[in-house]
Amino acid sequence: MNDRDRALVIFSGGQDSTTCLFKAVADYGLENVSCITFYYGQKHSAEVQIACEIAAELGVGRHKLINLDWYNQITTNALLDSTIPIEKSPDSACPNTVVDGRNMMFLLIAAVYAKSQEIHNLIMGVCETDFSGYPDCRDVFVQSCNVTLNLAMDWQFRVITPLMYLTKAQTWQMADRLGRLDYIYNRTLTCYNNVPGTGCGTCPSCTLRRRGYDEYMRHREGEESGSDGSGCW
Ligand code: ZN
Repeated sequence: MNDRDRALVIFSGGQDSTTCLFKAVADYGLENVSCITFYYGQKHSAEVQIACEIAAELGVGRHKLINLDWYNQITTNALLDSTIPIEKSPDSACPNTVVDGRNMMFLLIAAVYAKSQEIHNLIMGVCETDFSGYPDCRDVFVQSCNVTLNLAMDWQFRVITPLMYLTKAQTWQMADRLGRLDYIYNRTLTCYNNVPGTGCGTCPSCTLRRRGYDEYMRHREGEESGSDGSGCW
């Protein structure tokens, strides 16, 4: 498969998928990148608007919006039901923000659209390093789904997950290397409470994002002063 092929990015407007979008633009060229965004009744639905704005600011030619507002008819959880508080998970259970089947649904719809556009590469910003409670963020799921999609549509998809084994700090590092650290810090929405940029500061998503950012900044300052360096990086 030609590396200069085209790619479709599953894009939410959050830190991870925005980093993936910038990376895709760097890898494939802007004219070869499309993105797809899903509204599925998420409480932090402002991310859909932000995704539209970011895609427009980058000049992405094709941005597909898909409405899955019926999703809460078949499942519910703290992301879809405003009466359920978002809680940190007990050690033995998934976080209550897991949306069953979400990533599989996203991949299926993205794949159908990609094939219609003769695109093989699907890029998704899932990561199993920091948030292991999400079963459909694991590499084993993505690999399995990739095989299933190929069989389902007789098309050679390649599901690419650039962040799979990165820590949140390393994802910030990727943004920095792409020259987009400040943009992603200020423009993306990761917060479950709909607060863009630095976020509400208290939800699990904000906590993870902030911890990763602080860790990366300590690493970068260490590198600049020459006192720290490789470490676990
Ligand atoms: Zn938050």
